[in-house]
Amino acid sequence: MPRLAPSIEPFRNEPVRTFADGASRAGMMAALSRAHGTFGLTYPLVIGGERITGPGTIPSLNPAQPAEIVGDVVAATPQDVHDALDVATEAFASWSRTPVTERAGLLFRAAAEVRKRKDWFNALMIYEVGKTWVEADADTAEAIDFLEFYGREALRLAEPAPLVPSPYPEDNFLRYLPLGVGAIIPPWNFALAIMAGMTAAAIVTGNTVVLKPSPDAAVTAAHFVDLLLELGLPAGVVNYLPGDALTVGETLVADRRTRFVSFTGSKAVGLRINEVAAATAPGQRWIKRVIAEMGGKDAIVVADDADLEAAAAGVVASAFGFAGQKCSACSRAIVDAAVYDRFLEEVVRRTRALRVGDPQDPAVDVGPVINARAFERIFDYLESGRAEGRLLTGGGPAPGDGYFVEPTIIADVDPAARIAQEEIFGPVLAVIRVAGFDDALAIANGTEFGLTGAVYTRDPARIEQALAEFFVGNLYINRKCTGALVGVHPFGGFNMSGTDSKAGGPDYLLQFLQAKSIAVARLGITCG
Ligand code: NAD
Repeated sequence: MPRLAPSIEPFRNEPVRTFADGASRAGMMAALSRAHGTFGLTYPLVIGGERITGPGTIPSLNPAQPAEIVGDVVAATPQDVHDALDVATEAFASWSRTPVTERAGLLFRAAAEVRKRKDWFNALMIYEVGKTWVEADADTAEAIDFLEFYGREALRLAEPAPLVPSPYPEDNFLRYLPLGVGAIIPPWNFALAIMAGMTAAAIVTGNTVVLKPSPDAAVTAAHFVDLLLELGLPAGVVNYLPGDALTVGETLVADRRTRFVSFTGSKAVGLRINEVAAATAPGQRWIKRVIAEMGGKDAIVVADDADLEAAAAGVVASAFGFAGQKCSACSRAIVDAAVYDRFLEEVVRRTRALRVGDPQDPAVDVGPVINARAFERIFDYLESGRAEGRLLTGGGPAPGDGYFVEPTIIADVDPAARIAQEEIFGPVLAVIRVAGFDDALAIANGTEFGLTGAVYTRDPARIEQALAEFFVGNLYINRKCTGALVGVHPFGGFNMSGTDSKAGGPDYLLQFLQAKSIAVARLGITCG
């Protein structure tokens, strides 16, 4: 059988820009001004390719200037969920039979189009979720990567799978089939990349979906869905359904027509979705598959032989990049007592140098947290955190009208303390002092999560020990624990961090597929 796509270039990660040159800065300034000009628009639902308005809307605010409405999205109703599942079910009949080359081709064209509109998507995310310029550019680059990578992966999986030769006179095949209609429920924090990656993985494998975006990132999602429709995505393959978590999200998960749920978000919501999806609705003909990527309480271990400058730089980048609002963010630094004070000095110095403010300004290092609820939650943690350790820097709101939180470091924290165990999802770092490397690894593993982790040491034996014992889905040695690249660092965690899948890895698409094994006895009829 000929290869399906001989002319496709090998996958390469999209570069992330630094905006050090005048031209790229001018391009971004122009995009920010264009995006600002669209503030206040209303974004309709998309069901079966039709744009549908309704009486209720949900505002998506600029977290750096909460008085500004980036856009209003129409709030879907349970009837809309019903309609969207109907059209997605109908569209599945033809989309599942559309050649994989066409489905992958659509992803490649979407990647090219997002690449052309990079500044535009960056600007949307700077306003809608408070990303700095570089963080926004990395998010857009990752979205392009997912589209390019999953397109290639779908083509690879459509090639004949190697099987053991049969002892019988027969021909054997293994074919991957899509599952059906999926609910795609992304978080807000990688507003473009995760939402686009989850959607792309589901549709390139022949499934159809109902996408319920996060209300905090629903405008960015609306623009991505528009882009897919502009490129000729058939009606009903992706239905866009923003709305309430319960009346839309949970209704979608519970419905008998839903075949699978692809969720990324917090542990609490992931567990709830898993529970709802496990119940069998009357008339349901399958066990729903749940793919859940959840939170983390990620640690960086700093051994007594570490390069302390590098460790401090890695901890600060991992803890305070995007205001600590990454599932991979370092929220615990576990530091050997022999270097503890020197490490703290260095990490505090670097943290105090960070500029907090409105990320429209390219000089800003740390933008706002996403919304009022997150802001209050972080201060609730800080209140108990003050009693759980020694506040070294930060601890309060930073100036401005937005949800700005000072990058905060609390030292001498007990490993069992609340701020050392629960995901805070803000710029808060707990530092834990340890007596040695064995202790450090035991404490690093001592939460219910298992997402990312890093170790700074120069000792090859300790590196080996960390490789064997540090129980995380993504382990980094002598580098920061954030910034996973599609294809290079397949991403996803263990335990309460999710269902052990790896986004951007060679196994990911299999979660959206089921395999059919075929044996054809040789009677002189050829097929396959
Ligand atoms: P969240 O759990 O609050 O919401 C995620 C999505 O679920 C949103 O679209 C939300 O509207 C929806 N939702 C909420 N309740 C629901 C329900 N009962 N039924 C159906 N849908 C429901 O998370 P968030 O605040 O958007 O994102 C931050 C969280 O995501 C953090 O915990 C972070 O660690 C995690 N995250 C994990 C990864 C990963 O790859 N493991 C990546 C990014 C973010």
